[in-house]
Amino acid sequence: MAYRITDRCAKCGSCEPMCPVGAISFNGEKYVIDKKQCASCGMCANVCPVGAPEPDEN
Ligand code: SF4
Ligand code: SF4
Repeated sequence: MAYRITDRCAKCGSCEPMCPVGAISFNGEKYVIDKKQCASCGMCANVCPVGAPEPDEN
């Protein structure tokens, strides 16, 4: 199971450098998580000020 960044994201960028596997990137429009890389560590959710990253049930 990977994490995904929901629409609550305020695009602050805090999570990107915190991801241990570099799965988070800005695609020019929004921050996204590459679910193939995501190790589901939860670090992005921990640092996010608005709780945007959530476990992706898919
Ligand atoms: Fe990166 Fe961990 Fe967030 Fe996955 S859950 S995107 S590995 S910080
Ligand atoms: Fe978006 Fe939260 Fe990441 Fe900031 S820390 S870019 S609000 S998901």
